[in-house]
Amino acid sequence: MAIRKIKEDSDPILRKKSRPVEVFDERLFTLLDDMKDTLHQAEGVGLAAVQVGILKRVVVVDCGDGLIELINPEIVEKGGEQIEAEGCLSMPGKRGFTQRPYYVKVRAQNRKGQWCMYKGEGLKARCFCHELDHLDGILFTDRIAPRDKWPAQQDEAVVSK
Ligand code: ZN
Repeated sequence: MAIRKIKEDSDPILRKKSRPVEVFDERLFTLLDDMKDTLHQAEGVGLAAVQVGILKRVVVVDCGDGLIELINPEIVEKGGEQIEAEGCLSMPGKRGFTQRPYYVKVRAQNRKGQWCMYKGEGLKARCFCHELDHLDGILFTDRIAPRDKWPAQQDEAVVSK
């Protein structure tokens, strides 16, 4: 296991689309283990493989209730709306108010290749959406809520903490 370097948003790789995982082998397990260590060391709640320079549809999420490994994930159901301050490990110190569904259901494979369902509300739903966006080259700055929904004290779409 090892800590991998997190790419910052100046790196064009973050705008690329990741490819589906077809082979569930030791290389994938090493990537997942390294992503877990990297996520925990950075004290984040989610990390996509593209953020460590690997264009594969692989995400790890940990909202404080245990690590979830998502391989080839897709949102199959969503509902409601939430507008909260959001950041990204690839944009240290920056945050913005994004518009996300309040609830999502995600279908994904685990490391054994089995399809599983995961439900998330609030923070976890936001995290699933944020990380799955990374797999299509989308950053949270593309999801900024309409101006009239920002808190009164904020003047810019993305601010430094
Ligand atoms: Zn991110």
